[in-house]
Amino acid sequence: MAHVEHGTAAPTGETARHIAMAEGHSARNYAPLPVVIARGRGAWVEDVDGKRYLDMLSAYSALNFGHGHDEIVAAFVEQARTLALTSRAFHNDQFGPFCEEITKLCGQELVLPMNTGAEAVETALKTARKWGYRVKGVAGDQAEILCCEGNFHGRTISIVSFSDDPQYRDGFGPFTPGFKLVPYGDLAALEAAIGPNTVGFLVEPIQGEGGIVVPPAGYLAGARELCRRQRVLFMADEIQTGLARTGRLLACDHEGVKPDVLILGKALGGGMMPVSAVLASREVLGVFSPGDHGSTFGGNPLACAVARAAMRVLVRDGLAERAASLGEAFMARLRALGSPIVKEVRGRGLLIGIELHKEAGPAKAYAKKLMAEGVLCKDTVESVLRIAPPLVIEQDDLDWAFERIARVLR
Ligand SMILES: *Cc1c(COP(=O)(O)O)cnc(C)c1O
Repeated sequence: MAHVEHGTAAPTGETARHIAMAEGHSARNYAPLPVVIARGRGAWVEDVDGKRYLDMLSAYSALNFGHGHDEIVAAFVEQARTLALTSRAFHNDQFGPFCEEITKLCGQELVLPMNTGAEAVETALKTARKWGYRVKGVAGDQAEILCCEGNFHGRTISIVSFSDDPQYRDGFGPFTPGFKLVPYGDLAALEAAIGPNTVGFLVEPIQGEGGIVVPPAGYLAGARELCRRQRVLFMADEIQTGLARTGRLLACDHEGVKPDVLILGKALGGGMMPVSAVLASREVLGVFSPGDHGSTFGGNPLACAVARAAMRVLVRDGLAERAASLGEAFMARLRALGSPIVKEVRGRGLLIGIELHKEAGPAKAYAKKLMAEGVLCKDTVESVLRIAPPLVIEQDDLDWAFERIARVLR
């Protein structure tokens, strides 16, 4: 981490300077809160003016292990010194162990590693299509993939082709055909939408960007069963919900569901670098032949070493159990607040959404108030505050955050 001197500049001095540089020279595809973070440790970060904040967003669940986790940093530094990149033109000695460990952890036979979440989703879509033609016997170019209303799966042109958020699509057409939307949480609609050319159903077990939307109990298991009966691949995008965030290794585990295609990302990189993966059976990922698909950085030794350390920490330190108990208690306290502006508190584990009543105004204003109190979180959709701290957060820190959230919501 870069070293920055604190406490000498006037309050907001360095912050203002950095924001001016960023805004003067970068595309405006984000509207960040006005805080410039310079360092982080565990659940805490410090800005360029020396002010400390509790990170209750965790880079959208990429920081499940917190900032600068000693063991993951050590694996990162050691591997960076030893061997960082080979490309898949050659084998590397981290790749085999990574593949063995992640397939074992997730109960799947094969893995195809990529880097970002969107790349893994694209890989899953290509997998489903090729499986549809090669194994299911769908006629050429006829494959259809079902997705959910309110979905978020990334930002590539094909992925935004099946987004129903107008802003994600505006100005980016023409779009990729072959996708159809069904209402999230509605089994009858899913059943009605499945046709002879349907090869896959892509779903988030909890919609993260969509507003921390938890589907009705039995939905995932029901959809899993529908897909099995109709020979459609059940594809779970667990990029945000996976790796202990919701209190189980995978959010699908809450309903005992094993997806045909499992997509991981975010926390798989240990909070250090982009690492993503698609996991499935031999029948499914076996459709790929050399040259069909690839990525220069996918499966690189640095990524593999970091992901191995992340998986080791996750299991050994019982982070899923930790997320379950801390999350449940935190949600109960939020509900007990009885705040007049809160419509609903929902979520699972440490993936928590606080939906505000429309009259309370946009959630973003509350994220700003919380920032002033030293708590960093972010709105998602218009009216929902997302609370998703690192899973390594201490109870004392959660208590500290709760006091401030309570103050802002009262
Ligand atoms: C973040 C996210 C993605 C996209 O991941 P990137 O690494 O930003 O490309 C896809 N699906 C879900 C559910 C996500 O939360």
